Amino acid sequence: MNDCIFCKIVDGALPSNKVYEDDELLAFHDIHPIAPVHILIIPKTHIVSLSECGNKHQNLLGRMLLLAPELARKHGLETGFRTMINTGHGGGQEVFHLHIHIFGGGGKLART
Ligand code: 5GP
Ligand code: ZN
Repeated sequence: MNDCIFCKIVDGALPSNKVYEDDELLAFHDIHPIAPVHILIIPKTHIVSLSECGNKHQNLLGRMLLLAPELARKHGLETGFRTMINTGHGGGQEVFHLHIHIFGGGGKLART
């Protein structure tokens, strides 16, 4: 069986604090938030990272990106938010199932 943590969350084998779900995408709160709001958007299908994406993923990637401001708004990040996609070991990726981090609400992120 696939031992990917995020696939297990998609399958319901591991719990998560879900904030959004549709046929293709799932979003849930990060288990170790680095800001007052910290959400992860993932595709339900297992894609290792952004480096493994190609033309056939254009629509999926567009949908993931467009979901970010929608979820940010819903979670009170009216003044803005940060997105992050860590890719590969060199990019700090720890869970090898594509995900977009959305975080904010801390004030510390804002530049003066
Ligand atoms: P990465 O470094 O791969 O971009 O980030 C992986 C993120 O997944 C981390 O911020 C980490 O806290 C989060 N994470 C790891 N395991 C779990 C889990 O089981 N549940 C949830 N909700 N988040 C997780
Ligand atoms: Zn996976």
